[in-house]
Amino acid sequence: MENNEYKELQELFAAKRTTEANRRRQEELLRMLQTELKPAPKSRRLWPVWASAAAAAILLLLFVTPMMRTAGTGHTVSAIAQAETIPQIPFETADTARRVPTEGAAGPAVATELSTSETYADIEPVRLGSNGISAYISIMRGCQNYCAYCVVPYTRGRERSRDPQTIVDEARSLFDRGYREVTLLGQNVNSYGLTPNPSPDRRGEQTTFPELMARVAEIDPRLRVRFATSHPKDLSDELLQVMAAHENICRCIHLPVQSGSNRMLKLMNRKYTVEWYLDRVAAIRRYLPDCSITTDVIAGFSTETLEDHQATLDLFRRVRYDYAYMFKYSLREGTYAWKHLADDIPEEEKTRRLNEIIALQGQIALENNRQEVGREYEVLVEGESHRSKEQLFGRNSQNKVIVFDRREAVPGTYRRVRVTDCTAATLLGKLV
Ligand code: SF4
Repeated sequence: MENNEYKELQELFAAKRTTEANRRRQEELLRMLQTELKPAPKSRRLWPVWASAAAAAILLLLFVTPMMRTAGTGHTVSAIAQAETIPQIPFETADTARRVPTEGAAGPAVATELSTSETYADIEPVRLGSNGISAYISIMRGCQNYCAYCVVPYTRGRERSRDPQTIVDEARSLFDRGYREVTLLGQNVNSYGLTPNPSPDRRGEQTTFPELMARVAEIDPRLRVRFATSHPKDLSDELLQVMAAHENICRCIHLPVQSGSNRMLKLMNRKYTVEWYLDRVAAIRRYLPDCSITTDVIAGFSTETLEDHQATLDLFRRVRYDYAYMFKYSLREGTYAWKHLADDIPEEEKTRRLNEIIALQGQIALENNRQEVGREYEVLVEGESHRSKEQLFGRNSQNKVIVFDRREAVPGTYRRVRVTDCTAATLLGKLV
């Protein structure tokens, strides 16, 4: 899709009156947009991984757990830890089940057994279906932020951080086995170590998240380190300084904003304002000028007015995200919003607002990617492109997918790639 088509789509959304011809054109452009913004190769590649991991987790719970109990372990931790290795993508909003059907499929079978106080610190999970290159490490569990729309605090318990040494050991063990990228995971990862730790298996001193990042990054400069997901209220300058000091901490921060309206943020109980959020974005740009920023946003939350919605669009124009996970609000049973806030934006209007955000973000992503053409990046090669066996894909430090001709490149290695072209979702390049 071209830039003028993105703009045309936004104008169609903004139009006060719609003709039949405009409606048809809007639908046509939306279909093009869907094709343009289809998921990155990694997501597609992981689909069967999630599915197989979910199936294996259920089998483990059904068969292995009783065997373990029979063997006298009296504990279900291994099976549970197995289930928790199902990759989590960096959505901060808790209801990943709604967003990622395979995780949802695994949820009921798994979550019922999860302890709300355990950290499973010493259990290194088996990584089913892993590509042997990138791995996720859960560093903390639970959340106590009580965002109004989110069910996590009620299902996963309060925040508890894993012993830092077990995390460093796990990352080192992965590196020794050939992995070249680890993503430290938590519902609210940058509050690691901030709260008193109720876990019975924690040892050693309280380590902050920046200190933990530094320790993992210092395992080896060839190990890339990522993290997900950050809460804007806990994004400290100290973390950004540590990132700037370690080249192998990737230049990509997922910073869920959820809304660009202070009224909405307050109603969502997000604990920051738009001004605070923009200050954190400015700090990222100051310490890490080459850092990409991605986000989550919800369209049509309780009582959202057109003014609130416009404020979200304005924020998107100011921040210029490289990628955004965009969703229309859907009420979740058991949340604060379910009990106290009306789900009062009509479905059709939620969809319209969401599509407007998507159209704007598509344009911004395309413009951002066009600026990448001509630049060179170190890319961690991950695998074969879904389009052609003759092409491979990998990611740069900014987490952008780059597809390039295979030549002699091998998955699991770093290669320099020059960007030659792009779409809104993918960069195309050539080995240098
Ligand atoms: S920070 Fe908010 S959205 Fe994220 S897991 Fe915690 S309560 Fe849920």
